[in-house]
Amino acid sequence: MSTAATPGTLYQSPFRRHRTRVVVVGGVPIGGDHPIVVQSMTTPDTCRVDEVVEQIHRLEEAGCEMVRVTVPKPEDAAALTEIKRRIRIPLICDIHFDYRMALAALDHPIDKIRINPGNINGIDRFRQVVRKCKDRGIPMRIGVNAGSLEREFAMKYGYPCPPAMVDSAIRYIEIAESEGFHDIIVSLKSSDVQTVVEAYRLYAKQCDYPTHIGVTEAGKPPYAVIKSACGLAPLLLDGIGDTIRISLLGDPVPEIQAAYDILQATGRRVRKPELIACPTCGRLAIDLEKIIAELEKRLEGRKTPVKISVLGCVVNGPGEAREADIGIAAGDGKGMIYRNGEIVRRVLEHEMVDALMEEIEKWEREHPDRMPGARSSGKQRLPLV
Ligand code: SF4
Repeated sequence: MSTAATPGTLYQSPFRRHRTRVVVVGGVPIGGDHPIVVQSMTTPDTCRVDEVVEQIHRLEEAGCEMVRVTVPKPEDAAALTEIKRRIRIPLICDIHFDYRMALAALDHPIDKIRINPGNINGIDRFRQVVRKCKDRGIPMRIGVNAGSLEREFAMKYGYPCPPAMVDSAIRYIEIAESEGFHDIIVSLKSSDVQTVVEAYRLYAKQCDYPTHIGVTEAGKPPYAVIKSACGLAPLLLDGIGDTIRISLLGDPVPEIQAAYDILQATGRRVRKPELIACPTCGRLAIDLEKIIAELEKRLEGRKTPVKISVLGCVVNGPGEAREADIGIAAGDGKGMIYRNGEIVRRVLEHEMVDALMEEIEKWEREHPDRMPGARSSGKQRLPLV
């Protein structure tokens, strides 16, 4: 039987986002149709308030939308009010081993608790934290890690595999629900890419609490960024993931750019122009590297979610230019500029950058619904932030 579409039928992408509830963290909604939230984690001792705040300010500047601090000792919990007072984004507390640190953190004006159910050693302790979160109206991330999964679940399947991780998450979700608590976000992290992908896919078939996604302990950039992208892209393209953290060794600020780049490359959150350029080859008809460098400079800081194609010759140039919002098909020191799939002008090589910038400005005026801050029309090709 033929599966060919009737000519002229508009192809519709089957993309669907994992349908999740919305959990609000310090005024920022996570899940549902809301943009995927970018977060990070600080590295100094949390009780060293000035250093922590300075790092959070740099994260905020880079576009971080919520931040996590670790709370392993009472001095760290004691610092939370002061940290919260001096930052603008929601503050999350990361708890391992000692449930009393979660209870202590909840005495401060924090916005979310992250708890690792595999290492707090007891369901009653978990219940106490859930009850206090509920009393204070503070959401909780149930953060399952393959590396610290309870023995019982690992034994059931022989090792800390995806079904074992999901079973663990579901157990703690059910306990929280039995306390009447539903402000839950779930993570299922591993340093193994395939485990991450399988675990979240399995979870998404069974639960509708929003997910925090990430490949944990990814290591040192640039390899760690590639590894994170390998784990997160399949999930994002499946519509899974409501908040994201890229775990990089060292200063966390580069995590933010990496997160936005992964979101942009998967088309999930577009915050800047997308430049399509060919690798160049012996057919090159213009100085493409120079043109792209100049264009990048002129586009720096611009948030327009426009797709611009600049290719070096007529092999793929016209086709890509027609599919982009704005494009140039170059040939022998000159080129044709396309906007919205139509040829709008012909230019010489030295006029290309200025002409492209003019076309970008026209495109911005033509598409106010796709500019940052505009409400989604539901028809746009790329989701807006
Ligand atoms: S678009 Fe042309 S110049 Fe660029 S890589 Fe392809 S064939 Fe080569």
